[in-house]
Amino acid sequence: ALADEAGGVAFARAEAHAHALREMQVASALRHALERQELRLVYQPQVSLTSGAIVGVEALARWNSPRWGEVPPTEFIAVAERTGMIGELGHWVLETACRQWVAWRTAGLSVPRVAVNVSPHQLRRGDLALKVQRVLLDTGMDPRGLGIELTESAVMDDPARAGQALSELRALGVEVALDDFGTGYSSLACLRSLPIDVVKLDRSFVSDVDTAPESMALTRAILTMAHGLGMQVLAEGVEREDQLNLLRAKGCDLIQGYWFSPPVAPQALSERLSEGWRL
Ligand code: C2E
Ligand code: CA
Ligand code: CA
Ligand code: CA
Repeated sequence: ALADEAGGVAFARAEAHAHALREMQVASALRHALERQELRLVYQPQVSLTSGAIVGVEALARWNSPRWGEVPPTEFIAVAERTGMIGELGHWVLETACRQWVAWRTAGLSVPRVAVNVSPHQLRRGDLALKVQRVLLDTGMDPRGLGIELTESAVMDDPARAGQALSELRALGVEVALDDFGTGYSSLACLRSLPIDVVKLDRSFVSDVDTAPESMALTRAILTMAHGLGMQVLAEGVEREDQLNLLRAKGCDLIQGYWFSPPVAPQALSERLSEGWRL
């Protein structure tokens, strides 16, 4: 048993070492990825269940590394967070998404809104709204065309500071969405005082909303609460028609997910939009 334990410890050490090594390699490669144009954005439509129209798209970062191929965003975003590179990366995402929105507009295509994910680190810095305002001015973007997605856990980490940033964003005319909702232990009292336009119901509830009564009950409660507070609800990760029908019947406002479309390149989105793409 002793020998086993020692082996286990050695193994755990080796694994931790490999993990740290990979993180260092990813961090240093990421540093060059921006300059070398290895990063790109893809866009996933968000659709209204009442009108059937595309009301927005979520910008999602992709990294095609010459060394590792496509690196999952969950991995490189986490590395960027831990190494302080998220500021630069987040700025690139925001600016690229705004430029793309302006390009769509100029081409006469209607993409009402582009939503950008903002990391907890960007929120903690305290100058988020100022940075957003600068990018809006630089790109000539209409603030009403921009949405900011912040995770519930990032917001609840420091609700007072988050509330301040959200109010400033709202004052600019930017829409605010609470991402991954239902996973972050919100206090209802907090939620009530936060200026939030859209609650994004986490995929973990949506995935079995049509088969598990517990997920249905939670979804129903979140819909009632959000609507009572004047917020819209967007269901994430809708993959099946059964989920869509159920969500529509319960009064869910918006959906996003593979059932309607996976995230797509800007060119593909333009083509489908010009064909009158809708639900
Ligand atoms: P998220 O913000 O919750 O984004 C939604 C994720 O769900 C995306 O994964 C999307 O591709 C995926 N998804 C959409 N529809 C479906 C579906 O029907 N089924 C399933 N199984 N998945 C679906 P992705 O693109 O891999 O991004 C993962 C996470 O990485 C995002 O989660 C977000 O937290 C983070 N991320 C991505 N891009 C950025 C960025 O530019 N900035 C920041 N801060 N985070 C980002
Ligand atoms: Ca998101
Ligand atoms: Ca989400
Ligand atoms: Ca998520």
